[in-house]
Amino acid sequence: MADTKLYDALGVSRSATDLEIKKAYRKLAKEFHPDKNPEAGDKFKEISFAYEVLSDPKKRSTYDKYGLKGMQEGAHDGPSFGHEDLFSHLFGGGLFGMGMRSRRPTRGEDTIHPLKVSLEDLYNGKTAKLQLSKNVICRMCSGKGGRGDAHQCATCGGCGYKMTYRQLGPGMSQRLHSQCTDCMGEGMVISEKDKCTTCRGRKVVNETKILEVHVDKGMHENQKIYFRGEGDQQPDVEPGDVIIVLQQKAHERFQRSGDDLIMTHTISLTEALCGFTMTVRHLDGRDLLVKHPMGQIVKPADIKGIKGEGMPHHRNPFERGNLYIKFDVTFPENHFANEISLKQLENLLPPRPSFEMPSGEHVEEVDLHEYDASEGHGAGAGGRQEAYASDEDDHPGPGVQCAHQ
Ligand SMILES: [Zn+2]
Ligand SMILES: [Zn+2]
Repeated sequence: MADTKLYDALGVSRSATDLEIKKAYRKLAKEFHPDKNPEAGDKFKEISFAYEVLSDPKKRSTYDKYGLKGMQEGAHDGPSFGHEDLFSHLFGGGLFGMGMRSRRPTRGEDTIHPLKVSLEDLYNGKTAKLQLSKNVICRMCSGKGGRGDAHQCATCGGCGYKMTYRQLGPGMSQRLHSQCTDCMGEGMVISEKDKCTTCRGRKVVNETKILEVHVDKGMHENQKIYFRGEGDQQPDVEPGDVIIVLQQKAHERFQRSGDDLIMTHTISLTEALCGFTMTVRHLDGRDLLVKHPMGQIVKPADIKGIKGEGMPHHRNPFERGNLYIKFDVTFPENHFANEISLKQLENLLPPRPSFEMPSGEHVEEVDLHEYDASEGHGAGAGGRQEAYASDEDDHPGPGVQCAHQ
């Protein structure tokens, strides 16, 4: 018994010509379009699907030979777009509750804008004005697009999308949905003469809006500031949000880590040994005076902190993180002093560790020279060997072996 369900859906015979199929589809699509006939959503889907198959010569012949079931198997291999869903829901029980309209988004997309701010801005807070271009509902036509009633789009038959097939192999094809460009997926169009002159039938117009972005004290990199409902407007769709994403510009002095600030300060060997005074220009313009007393030696890479001079805590700006200063120590250049003063210096410094001069045939005196990276026997060689050794330890765990069983 041949499968004629698709022909039945369009009310045509198996021998119908392409033109007859097209006419039948047009007539039925108009009648059962969900906009005009909301109760008949499934019927409209059946009609559309029947037309998709029967209007495509290859699909039609596959269907004629094998029926729906044969096509379903053929469609299996391709990443088909809901084929199985359609087959199981249509012509079977028809539990396809979704109308065509529900494919359209009920909420517009969010608009994301990066906003570059300085660390000073994040420390002190600031209000930035951001010029934004967005679509708003045309006031002239109240978003209708024109005078009079819209009529069904002839290109897509009112369904708002076009269907194309991509052949993947014999009897196999992938079905692709694409938005109808004539009606922009709405299924309805307005005659040229009735179109609103302000929006030219687009229903929306472009507008420039200034948003005041309040950057609060203590906000951080990638923090989002929401403007609810300020996204592009379109009829029957709840507008999305405008989301400002803060991007902090690198600061020349400070790095931020949570609510703490970190900076590097270079001191001389004399300062490291004998104490120093320094100032730190803070993000609010204050100069912090730091006195480090004589007698407390600072070593290279030492880190010292100043309580409460970090970033303000967001939403509780009277509480602040700490400021940490990491010290670099520059050593004097060669020949900064003559031999006599170096001897004096040595007398002031802690004594050398004792050294016992070796003797015997196995002792060989060698020269130290400056390290040159291009020589190739770098200090990295030892490190690389270590890396190999640890790679060998990297056996697959027992869990991996178990997986084979
Ligand atoms: Zn269309
Ligand atoms: Zn308008």
